[in-house]
Amino acid sequence: MRKGIGVSPGVAVGTAYSINEIFVNPDTKRLEESEAQAELARYDLARERTATDLHALFHKVSMQVGPEEAAIFQVHESILRDSAFTAKIRSWIVDERLASPAALHRLLEEYTALFTSTQDEYLRERLADVRDVIIRLSGHLTEVLQPDNVALPGPLILVVNELLPSQVVTLGTREVAGIVTETGGRTSHAAILARSRGVPAVSGIRGIYRQIKTGDTLIVDGREGHVLINPDAETTSAYLKLQREFFDLKGTLAENRDQPAVTADGQHVELLANINNLADAKAAVAMGAAGVGLFRTEYIFLTHPDVPDEEQQLEAYREIIAASPNRRVTIRTLDLGGDKTIPYLGHAREANPFLGWRSIRLSFEHPEFFATQIRAILRSAAPTDGPPSRVRMMFPMITTLEEIRRVRTMVRKAREQLEADGKPHGDVRLGFMLEVPAAAVTIDTLLEEVDFVSIGSNDLVQYLMAADRDNPKVNHLCQPLSPPVLRVLSQVISACNAVDTPVTLCGEMAGSPRAFVLLFGMGLRSFSMSPAFIPMIKDLSRHLTRKRAEKVLKRALEIKTTAGIQRFMAAQIAEIAPNLKMLDTV
Ligand code: PEP
Ligand code: MG
Repeated sequence: MRKGIGVSPGVAVGTAYSINEIFVNPDTKRLEESEAQAELARYDLARERTATDLHALFHKVSMQVGPEEAAIFQVHESILRDSAFTAKIRSWIVDERLASPAALHRLLEEYTALFTSTQDEYLRERLADVRDVIIRLSGHLTEVLQPDNVALPGPLILVVNELLPSQVVTLGTREVAGIVTETGGRTSHAAILARSRGVPAVSGIRGIYRQIKTGDTLIVDGREGHVLINPDAETTSAYLKLQREFFDLKGTLAENRDQPAVTADGQHVELLANINNLADAKAAVAMGAAGVGLFRTEYIFLTHPDVPDEEQQLEAYREIIAASPNRRVTIRTLDLGGDKTIPYLGHAREANPFLGWRSIRLSFEHPEFFATQIRAILRSAAPTDGPPSRVRMMFPMITTLEEIRRVRTMVRKAREQLEADGKPHGDVRLGFMLEVPAAAVTIDTLLEEVDFVSIGSNDLVQYLMAADRDNPKVNHLCQPLSPPVLRVLSQVISACNAVDTPVTLCGEMAGSPRAFVLLFGMGLRSFSMSPAFIPMIKDLSRHLTRKRAEKVLKRALEIKTTAGIQRFMAAQIAEIAPNLKMLDTV
């Protein structure tokens, strides 16, 4: 058994599918002589398709963003067309009868050995580009990211070194029962996606990727953070029983979807959903969400084959609004950077990506691009003949008052432009995500200029604790239920309530029973979480009273260590809602 971090609760039993296998264990079986020509043709076709992709991307991005930003695709195309690159691959296929994935793997190893020994920063960055090209090529070659096409029995458990958000969204429709990754923490975006799909996941297991082969039987225990490889029959049947209990519990809870979210003493809570795409919006309805509290628009950009223009964005937003519960959606402007990158925004590799050029900072650098998104959002809120919608717009990673003023000016100008063009648009409230400690400290000033606040605790915790949310080595520090985080949250919620500015918390902790009780005790009444957690939190709220939550909070704030708070809260949940034990995680 291997121990990691449980990042999405539940239990899954299934067959391992290693999606990055090309980078670790490519199939090195030699081809028959007669197969080499067909393999060569397969490689050439994949190469042509890759070149077509890159070429189209270059043109589209040059027109819509700018030639400088598009230049990266020319670099990639020139790598692909490099004669040494092609000659090597072809000769390994023909002379050594390697399959193309194995040839690509060998090439990557050669480049890695060559480039990592150099001190030259420029060359080292080129290695990353070679890797990108090889990933794109291998995508065309082996359909690596389409488990739909895999001939493996039963539900699949994905095994990956690092699951990129752009990969999760293209996973296809084949049932994915569990996910195991080597890197990434509870709030890495891949983990968030796993939770939003209710898929158990464990991350932070070093070396597992080399130990597990496609086809192995795996058990993923997302509560405890355990992974079992080829377990015996007895263990498997014990876990299958747990898995059934997990499904049953989720099924029973989901039956409360039409019940109101009120506490035992009649306090209303607003349970909203965090969504990344249309499927999540539908899940939000199915789970009984009152609306969407966070729509991460970057997934539209990550999944679009090129840059979506204003009309395409408008259509995507309209579709999301129409599919969302009560047509209520808080749309967050682009939040790229950190672990979510798209090459066409000229993302240079940075030493500290989470502290660097990400999120709103990046949007400001591309004012035309940003203004396009703002216009599309304003237009998506235009009244229609159908039922009314309520659209809010929020800006991520706000650090200073100047930034708020700057976005407000941009929104005003976008409105003026739409008026001038005679394009219908709607009334949209403006808010910001509180996820930088600087904004928490100056919350009173920021509140004067916005309509609402949404606390992004995933980032707030990492910045407050100076601990990377994706790095398992510092996961012990990246804990929301720690004395410093609880104090800051309590201050921010009180500040918002004092001036009656609506405040929501949309970080992952909103869907954790322990955190929910504490946040409710702080006076928070609006929570936005992965749709899969809404039935559980609704059930919990129905067991809770304001008096009890306030008492629990008071005691928790007196506890001086994170471990102490966790122990205390585990005992509280066991008392308040013993039926939820299976879903209660740290
Ligand atoms: C957050 O930081 O808490 C948040 C909700 O935003 P994201 O996870 O997308 O960074
Ligand atoms: Mg964030």
